[in-house]
Amino acid sequence: MAASLRSAAVLTIDLDAIVANWLELARRVAPGACAAVVKADAYGLGAAQVAAALYRAGCRFFFVALMEEGIALRPVLPADAVIHVLHGPLPGTELDCVEHGLIPVLNAPDQVQRYRALAQRLDRVLPAALQFDTGMARMGLQERELEQLAAQRDGWQGIDVRLAMSHLVSAEEPDNPLNALQLQRFERLRALLPACPASLANSSGIFLGGAYHFNLARPGAALYGVAPVPGRAHPLRSVIRLQARLLQVRDVGEGEGVGYNHTWQAARPSRIATVSVGYADGYLRSLSNRATLRFRGHDLPLVGRVSMDTVTVDVSRVPANALQPGTFFDLIDEVQDINALAAQAGTNAYEILTQLGHRYERRHLGSSAGNLA
Ligand SMILES: *Cc1c(COP(=O)(O)O)cnc(C)c1O
Repeated sequence: MAASLRSAAVLTIDLDAIVANWLELARRVAPGACAAVVKADAYGLGAAQVAAALYRAGCRFFFVALMEEGIALRPVLPADAVIHVLHGPLPGTELDCVEHGLIPVLNAPDQVQRYRALAQRLDRVLPAALQFDTGMARMGLQERELEQLAAQRDGWQGIDVRLAMSHLVSAEEPDNPLNALQLQRFERLRALLPACPASLANSSGIFLGGAYHFNLARPGAALYGVAPVPGRAHPLRSVIRLQARLLQVRDVGEGEGVGYNHTWQAARPSRIATVSVGYADGYLRSLSNRATLRFRGHDLPLVGRVSMDTVTVDVSRVPANALQPGTFFDLIDEVQDINALAAQAGTNAYEILTQLGHRYERRHLGSSAGNLA
């Protein structure tokens, strides 16, 4: 059996497009630096491959969410790549940061204290980033906590604060007044810290303009083709292609139902193709009766419910002899991208990306592919 025929569905990841997107974002935030957020396995696209490609393009700052993600990424990248761990260490794992060369983002007073204690125990000054809360109410020191720490003589003792950061609540809504409010709070709170580089913008934040760029931008989604402002034109390339194979074809008569609960009934005699992808692959059930699949230039409606492992498609318009089992249908491509699919599913493109299935054969393409020497 040919190797390529073993995979029921193939996810192709264009590393050159990710690099092009990073270069475009880096150009916009210059003279500030541009990091790459590669948490959640680079939003499902492969953190090791993505980080290596971006390092090769000049990226030196990376962010993951979890300690274990940082520990896994460290050996992939040369020593001059800075890896920040957004959640910082859980109690008792502080030493992992030192041993694995990771920069923790410290988010709460107890986390700061435990890191200070480690520095004292090792008799070293340890690098860290500090996050404070300017409105998200999720992670980061609150204003009062930051003031208390700043007022203590040994507040940052043993900690080399390398980065002051915060996170925007509604950056994808350029007209939301919360953006300017958070920017103001950020300016005010970072003055409480020792002088150090600052970072506020995620992907969409970069497109709010230069006031939001500071010294380091932290885009994730835009690298992977997510539109910074949903529904609006943007300069980013589409990065992934998802294809799934035809399993079988049947004719159904007028009035016959298709799939679980017969949520679709044929209004006329129709030909239905069953394609090998389902909600177990992150092809969301909310796409039932809504998505379009593409086959040799035809836009074809998904009909009936998305099942766990299959979807059904109305292929009445396609010449019968083209419908051979094993042939690929396109589910995501540059015509129907993750942003369009997200709109059909009633979610955002972040969720489409991070739910991408583990059964897909992942092919990383591009001249940026491959391990670093
Ligand atoms: C996930 C995350 C980012 C990246 O956000 P995008 O919207 O994907 O660009 C940046 N900063 C923090 C703190 C995050 O959690």
